[in-house]
Amino acid sequence: MSEGVPNVFEDVELAAVRSALLEWYREDHRSFPWRETTDPYEILVSEVMSQQTQLGRVVEAWEDFLDRWPTTEDLAAAERAEVVAFWSDHSLGYNNRAKYLHEAAEQIETDYDGSFPDSPEELSELMGVGPYTANAVASFAFNNGDAVVDTNVKRVLYRAFGCPDDAAAFEQAANELMPAGESRDWNNAIMELGGVACGQTPACDEQSCPWREYCDAYHSGDFTAPDVPEQPDFEGSRRQFRGRIVNTLGEHDELGLDELGPRIRVDYQPDGNYGREWLRDILTDLAEDELLELDGEGDETVARLRR
Ligand code: SF4
Repeated sequence: MSEGVPNVFEDVELAAVRSALLEWYREDHRSFPWRETTDPYEILVSEVMSQQTQLGRVVEAWEDFLDRWPTTEDLAAAERAEVVAFWSDHSLGYNNRAKYLHEAAEQIETDYDGSFPDSPEELSELMGVGPYTANAVASFAFNNGDAVVDTNVKRVLYRAFGCPDDAAAFEQAANELMPAGESRDWNNAIMELGGVACGQTPACDEQSCPWREYCDAYHSGDFTAPDVPEQPDFEGSRRQFRGRIVNTLGEHDELGLDELGPRIRVDYQPDGNYGREWLRDILTDLAEDELLELDGEGDETVARLRR
């Protein structure tokens, strides 16, 4: 561990946390064609294209590009102007990226005999390939990368494990968390988690986040993050607690307020801001939506799911 950087995983069961995420990702994830390949050229093209373009729109451009120039040899042999024209026609952002990609293909052909190097260090020698892209190609093509640390990953580490908002701390925590030899699936999985479950307004229950039982934010209800300085809007946060109440009641026949409260947030205090009154209010909404039944009055309220 680097000096001065706290160990955020002191009380965390790393093995369980790791396998929960990998299982969640392997069971179901958004499908993009470049996730089905380990060809470094195809992956590089997808990474360069997605730097400035929404993923959904990249799919078609990526397929067209690879139809036209299926290998680095084909791309290196193309006229640079043709590659730039393709870039503009598909609205892929700065044309310089097309020029760099073309030049990188030439480098692969002339300096590397047509085969990509497999380490992030060597990959970052290629034209236009920064550390992030080099690491992505090393991970997804060669399963040989370091942990990716992008905004999504930072948000997840901050919320789940209270990682301080500091570049060195994020870097260290991300690498410590990644299981050895799993950079391909791991980096995909943690980016997917940050993209679909732990977005700016998190969807912990809706997306069955595999880290709910370990996550600090999930327990405290505080979903702020470096890129989300304000608590996500009240409705978002309230929706979280609605989901959590339904899940918790699913595991019990019925629960009173003071039994249910601490199970859905660690800072529950019967008479505090997040206490009986706050909880009864959400329970009443859920009962009005016919999701659960309430018995008893006031502090004696007991909740159970409608069967
Ligand atoms: S439980 Fe929610 S806040 Fe915590 S990591 Fe999962 S999605 Fe993010």
